[in-house]
Order: sequence, then structure tokens, then C-alpha cells
Amino acid sequence: MLLKNDFWSLLCRGRKKKIVTLLVVLILLINAMFYVSLELYNTVKRKHKEPWYNSLHFDKDSYVDETGMRVIVGHYVGGIKGGDLPDDVVNSNNYAPVPGAGEGGRPVQLSQRELITARELYSLHSYNILVSDKISINRSLPDMRSESCRSVEFNLDNLPTATIIIVFHNEAWSTLMRTVMSVLNRSPGVLLKQVILVDDASDRRYLGEELDKAIAKLDKVQILRNPTRTGLVGARLMGAREAVGDVLVFLDAHCEVTQGWLEPLLDRAGNDDVFICPHIDLLSDDTMSYTKSIDAHWGAFSWRLHFRWLIPGSDVLALKSANPSKPYPTPTMAGGLFAVRKSLFWRLGGYDEGMLIWGAENLELSWRAWQCGARVEITSCSRVGHIFRRHSPYKYPGGVAKVLNSNLARAATVWMDEWAEFFFKFNPSIAAIRDQQTVADRVELRKNLKCKSFKWYLENVWPQHFFPTDDRWFGRIRSDIGGCLGVPAGTPGVGRPASTVPCGNDLDLDSLVVYTPEGRVMADEGLCLQQGNGRAVWSACSDSSKQLWVQKGPRLKTPSGLCLTLYLTEKDDKDKDGGFITSKKCIQDNRQIWHLERVPWR
Ligand code: UDP
Ligand code: MN
Repeated sequence: MLLKNDFWSLLCRGRKKKIVTLLVVLILLINAMFYVSLELYNTVKRKHKEPWYNSLHFDKDSYVDETGMRVIVGHYVGGIKGGDLPDDVVNSNNYAPVPGAGEGGRPVQLSQRELITARELYSLHSYNILVSDKISINRSLPDMRSESCRSVEFNLDNLPTATIIIVFHNEAWSTLMRTVMSVLNRSPGVLLKQVILVDDASDRRYLGEELDKAIAKLDKVQILRNPTRTGLVGARLMGAREAVGDVLVFLDAHCEVTQGWLEPLLDRAGNDDVFICPHIDLLSDDTMSYTKSIDAHWGAFSWRLHFRWLIPGSDVLALKSANPSKPYPTPTMAGGLFAVRKSLFWRLGGYDEGMLIWGAENLELSWRAWQCGARVEITSCSRVGHIFRRHSPYKYPGGVAKVLNSNLARAATVWMDEWAEFFFKFNPSIAAIRDQQTVADRVELRKNLKCKSFKWYLENVWPQHFFPTDDRWFGRIRSDIGGCLGVPAGTPGVGRPASTVPCGNDLDLDSLVVYTPEGRVMADEGLCLQQGNGRAVWSACSDSSKQLWVQKGPRLKTPSGLCLTLYLTEKDDKDKDGGFITSKKCIQDNRQIWHLERVPWR
């Protein structure tokens, strides 16, 4: 105490007192400045911690739904292109595995500096090449199979043999080789006849001699070179023609197969009446982590014929839960990953060689399989990881739209009957190139195989479909106070609050809906109008009675007798969109009046 007093009296006299005060103020100021800069630093750091790909542009056809499943592929709309990366960067193979990186399917994180480079290189492959190059081509992976799948025992002597066909165009070295090594490391030797790589006219230097040398060292692996770029159909056919195994197993060039993947595929494909697909898990395009994709999914397509993962019908869900290791039917396959007995593949006409580069071949093959007496199925016991990309990294000679549209036009013309007319009516730019397609041989094939109609397909394979039919009403549901029922363009997604959209014209699919005899109001993408808690929402179509709307004159009523009502706030544009939709007690109110304007669907 004494000491302390002496100290202060010494310091705080006269001028010294002022200096001390000044010093104290200065210290306080420095402190404050320190905290401000610390805060600033943290904010910047937080920003940097956000996944680097967040700043990339997402196209409207890829989004992550509320279950965390990435819903994509079906239609690439442009995308970010390669930019001006120097030749030596584009053509070099920088595979340099870091011990432990990505083992067990774990994500690989990059340093701040590497993130910048990774971002610059992203457009090369539409996935993180820096991360891929750090992971061993022989990395370990988790076993995602259910207990019931793991306990199934196969007698290998009774299974047919397999030829694995992997086609690629300008793929990265590390992802391509990791696909090959995962197959070699995880397929029983007696079942694996050969692995055929088909190079679809890649022009990257490292995919030339360097790849030949690496492949030469591997038992059972061979490489075929397509002299001119045909696209995946031509390349897969090239591989299939060389196959000596009983079953053809197709894989993309950025897959990783896991423990026990091959046996369930061969077991089912042995039957000679089915195209059997593995359960496709997710390899992150950012960190290359291996994660489970949702269990209950099957493949279907939207009104615009974009491939979609959807929840299967309730009968299939019941079948799945009663017998989780049993393969289940799917309206369509995703594309690149499936197994089929070679004899069946050729008997049904292989692939449509008129389909170039990428797209629609998965729909065509699936429709053909079902309509011509075979099946398409998924087995959850075969787990294969695939890198889903948000953009197609390679060039489409002639342009993306032209290539895709002519493939779609071919598939629709040959297989969809009346629904081809629906598709062409609402896609005039595709209708315009319809007559340029020479599909006589495919139509002939359909006739020779005595294939069933598209109507049969919709009714029997995909009874939950949301397409218009002759016994479903199709058109616009226009509110008396403005706007029409519909899902705003480019924002599909379940659980979206329902509001009205601009009514558009007769060709505007966004404001057109199907109204079924049972009372479901269905929009594109399998969305049904559902009374939620408080608001009406667009929800995945299901058996729920909350999705039933009974038409009584100009009103739409819930089973309990409430009326569909539109509330507009002042800021909503009453001619166009906005508003709040819910069901309320029926009264004399034009907010409850809806005009059903029929539009011919074909
Ligand atoms: N592919 C090909 N030639 C092409 C386009 C694609 O060989 O002109 C290959 C591609 O390298 C991949 C497979 O076909 O192994 C499927 O293509 P992609 O992975 O781009 O399709 P997605 O999985 O995105 O549907
Ligand atoms: Mn792919």
C-alpha cells in the first residue's frame, strides 16, 4: 500500500501528471486500434473460410435439395469455360500423392495459397484437380453398404464375368487412374475379364504415351483410341464391341468403386432382362470426400426432359424397406454407371449412334429397355462414388444446345409417342430441328422388337409421373385477382411457399399445371400444391391428402372444405406474381375465385 501511494505521488505531480494522462489515453487508443484490426482480420478470415466454390456461378439445373442431396445433371447450360490457361498447365499431369490424404474417403483441405490455384484450375475438369492430385490412386474408402447387403453371400462360380468399359475425353490423370485402380483393387479376379478404357479423342498430352505406359503395366487393362471425337455413345460402343466378358459394366472416368460393388451387379445382370445400376454415392467435386447419397431415390425426368433424381413411389419404398438388399425398379438410369448382359445390350440395339457427345442417351436407353421388354433397376448393395459436376468442362462441337437438342429430339421422336408432341410443342427450338434427325433405323428397331407404347411406360413403370394425359386436365389456374398458380422459373425445390407467377402465354410451362382426376395440382419437376402449416407450399407429389383440391365451381377446396385463397400485399404486383396462398373458410371473396383455362397439351 505504501509503495503504491509513493509511486502515484511521484508520477502525478504537475507536468508529469499531464504526460501520464496522455500516456494512458495513448495506451487506450492503441488498444482500441488493436481490437478493431483483430475484428477486421477475423472477418476477412471468416470470408476466406467459406468454401471457395461458393463464389462460382450455379446453373439453374443444379441445386442441393433439403435432404442435402445434390440434384443435378440433365442439362448443362453453358458453364464456365477453360479460360486462358497456359498450354503446359493444361497438358501436365501433376499427380503427387500426399501420404494419408483422402484416405478412408475423407475430405482433403487445401491451404489458403492452394485454394487460389485450385480455383484457377477448376474449369479444367469442373472439379478440384489439386485435391485429386494429392490423393493416392489406391486410396481406401468406407463401406457404405447396409448390414443386410453385407450379409448376402455370392457363389462366385455361378456369376457371369465382366468387362468394365470406361470412356473418357480429356479426363484428369489422377481421377481416371483412381477409377481404374479402384476396379482392379475391389473386383474378384475370377469375375473380372478385362477393363477397357476408351479414349474419345482426348488432346491432353499426359493422356497419350504416358498413359499407354502406365496401362501396359496393369494386368487385364487395355486402351482403345477413338480417332475422332464421337461423344460417349460412340466411345462406349467401341468398347462394347471389344468386350469378351458376359456382362458389360459401364463406368464414368471419375468414379471410385467400393468393397463388394461388382457381385450384386453381376448377380442381377446374369438374368438377361435387366439394366442394373449401382447406388451412386457422391464424390465431392471440391474435397473428393466420399459421402452417402440418400437411400430412397430413383431416376426420372422433367417436362423438359432433364434427368432428375426423385423419391420413388410408395410401393417401391415399401419394397425397399421390407427387403433392403433387393434391387428395385427405376423409370430411368442416371447415365454412365450400369451393368447389362452383353447379349441383351446388343439384342436391344446397343446405343443410338446418332446421339453425339453427351446427353439424352440415358433416357433413350431406359425407355427402350422398359418398352421393349427389359427392366431398369438399382441395387443399393453396389456402391460406387461419382463426381457430379456442375458444368461440363469439355467442348461441344457445334454448341451445347445444338448437340443436346438433337439428341433429345431423337429420343423423343422414337419413343415418346403423344408425349413427343407435348415436348416439341413446348420446346419450339427443338421442334425446329426435329425433321433433321434421321431415325428411320431406330423406328424400325422399335417395330421389330415389338416394343410397347410410351403410355404403357408411364402407366406401368412410372404411375407417379406428373405429365399431362388424356384424362388429366392441363392448363392455367388464374386467380381472379391476378397471377396464375405456378413455380417461379429456375427455382425448383420442394417446400417452397406457393405464390402466383406471371400467367405467361400458352407455351409458358412455368404457369401451366396438370390437374388430376383425384384432385392433385401438379407442376413440372414433380411438385404438387400442398396445404402446409399456415401456407400452401409446392411439395414433392405424394399420396398425402393435403395435396387434394376439389374443384367446386370456380373454387378449389381442401377435403375438409376450406377454400384456396390468394392474399396480395401492397408490394405484390397483382398482374404478375407474389402473394400468399393458403386455404381459408369459404366466403364471398374474389380472392378465392380461380379460373381454370384449359390449354391443349399436344
Ligand atoms: N465423355 C466422352 N466423350 C465426350 C463426352 C463425355 O467420352 O464427348 C465421357 C466422359 O469423360 C465421362 C462420360 O463420358 O467419362 C460421361 O460424361 P460426364 O461425366 O461429363 O457426364 P455426367 O456424369 O456429368 O452426366
Ligand atoms: Mn460423370
